[in-house]
Amino acid sequence: MMLKIAGVLLCFVFIGIVAATSIKRKRSAGSKVVSLSQVKKMRSTAAHEGKSKGQKCSSCKEPGKKLTFYATNDGRVIGVCSTCKPAVERQGLLPL
Ligand SMILES: [Zn+2]
Repeated sequence: MMLKIAGVLLCFVFIGIVAATSIKRKRSAGSKVVSLSQVKKMRSTAAHEGKSKGQKCSSCKEPGKKLTFYATNDGRVIGVCSTCKPAVERQGLLPL
């Protein structure tokens, strides 16, 4: 009788340990996956932003607009959006 109770108790303790470790593993694995995907997401977002950075309007600095490129009098090339285009053309700059 005593042995049976001890065996059942031992069984419960064993199940408890297994459950605890499996929960811990699941948690750590889950957080690892989340952090990895977050890093990947951040990297892809950063790469995307890096690409669009080169497409900023030289006048109003607004990214993501369709730009027209002009050669300035000092030899630089600037890209301006349709909003800033009239102002640049008024300066006598010609589109490339
Ligand atoms: Zn602009």
